[in-house]
Amino acid sequence: MSSVNEKVVYMDNNATTMIAPEVVDAMMPYLTNLYGNPSSMHTFGGQVGQVVSEARKKVADILGADPEEITFTSCGTESDSTAILSALRTFPEKRHVVTTRVEHPAVKSLCDNLETLTGHKYRVTRLKVDGEGMIDMAEYEAALMDDTAIVSVMWANNETGNIYPVEKMAAMAKERGIFFHTDAVQAVGKIPINLKTLDIDFLSLSGHKIHAPKGVGVLYIKRGTLFVPFLTGGHQEHGRRGGTENVASIVGLGRACELASEKMEEENTRVKQLRDKLEEGLLSGISKSRLNGHKTTRLPNTSNISFEFVEGEAILLHMNRHKICASSGSACTSGSLEPSHVLRAMGVPFTAAHGSIRFSLSVYNSEEEVDYIIEKMPAIIELLRKMSPFWQGN
Ligand SMILES: *Cc1c(COP(=O)(O)O)cnc(C)c1O
Repeated sequence: MSSVNEKVVYMDNNATTMIAPEVVDAMMPYLTNLYGNPSSMHTFGGQVGQVVSEARKKVADILGADPEEITFTSCGTESDSTAILSALRTFPEKRHVVTTRVEHPAVKSLCDNLETLTGHKYRVTRLKVDGEGMIDMAEYEAALMDDTAIVSVMWANNETGNIYPVEKMAAMAKERGIFFHTDAVQAVGKIPINLKTLDIDFLSLSGHKIHAPKGVGVLYIKRGTLFVPFLTGGHQEHGRRGGTENVASIVGLGRACELASEKMEEENTRVKQLRDKLEEGLLSGISKSRLNGHKTTRLPNTSNISFEFVEGEAILLHMNRHKICASSGSACTSGSLEPSHVLRAMGVPFTAAHGSIRFSLSVYNSEEEVDYIIEKMPAIIELLRKMSPFWQGN
């Protein structure tokens, strides 16, 4: 194992997570000796088919779903696209989609493309959010039309951690015969989910956000929900998703779901306390800093803080020198000076949106690491503010 990584203070878990050692152990046999194809007739392949079924059961358990409702995919992005495109193909006469202004790019760009790449054959309503990033339910209700095919609203936001009332929103869509999809990539493992009693038709999750490898995801499809596959091919996944199963990663995802269920309590107590300590330490220790997102209706691990009059990417570079990993809400490196679409939708002032940093913790973080960040950050911000043409001092 690399000794460099051991020294990193990793608080970027909404971007990706460490693969849990237990997950690596569970995967190893399927990366070495047990390389059979689950579809083969022989016992060598058949035994591999058996572990895929066991993993399916483990994923179903964390969602309060049945194994038959679980389809393995290559990632959260594929699951999101598959759900939305399925609804549009199921009801070709319905050409309206409802979503929000704060979705992950996986949903956002698909919706943008639905309008622009089809010559506006489809219409998309993007719900507004308030200053704390929350949706207006009256606006949502008014957005549901006779020709709305599907609603896609994330369960929890990757940038702010905000949690959306998808249970209620799904029930309102169901009343009108509209499919409901939720991108739950950030919610799974952090907050309890029980799909059995809900009207959610489709739910996406991703392995690498819950301590499983990159390149494996799940689309939950509620029993009885009409479905048109995105990837066709062989008869894998009961004809719902062609392509030979990524067996090792699927086994890893199953194990990661078991671990996430066991650690959900810790996530909502110890990890939340660490997050709160970090947040309070930074907000009280650094002037002109502010929290972005809802104070309470929020994931236990996420804190998005703006340090006004400094550039997020510059902050990250200085944090990097101290081996602290986090994310910023601006994207100058990508060639645009635009701050994140999420912070813009919330109306965060320009000078604050540019200096936003997202800290996202996991069960692998310690109090020592939180103290270390609280100690290092004030000097970083002070240094950058001294160089900022916008900073008036104090
Ligand atoms: C990471 C993420 C995705 C994309 O998942 P991939 O497996 O990386 O494709 C989608 N939605 C949200 C909210 C995410 O955080």
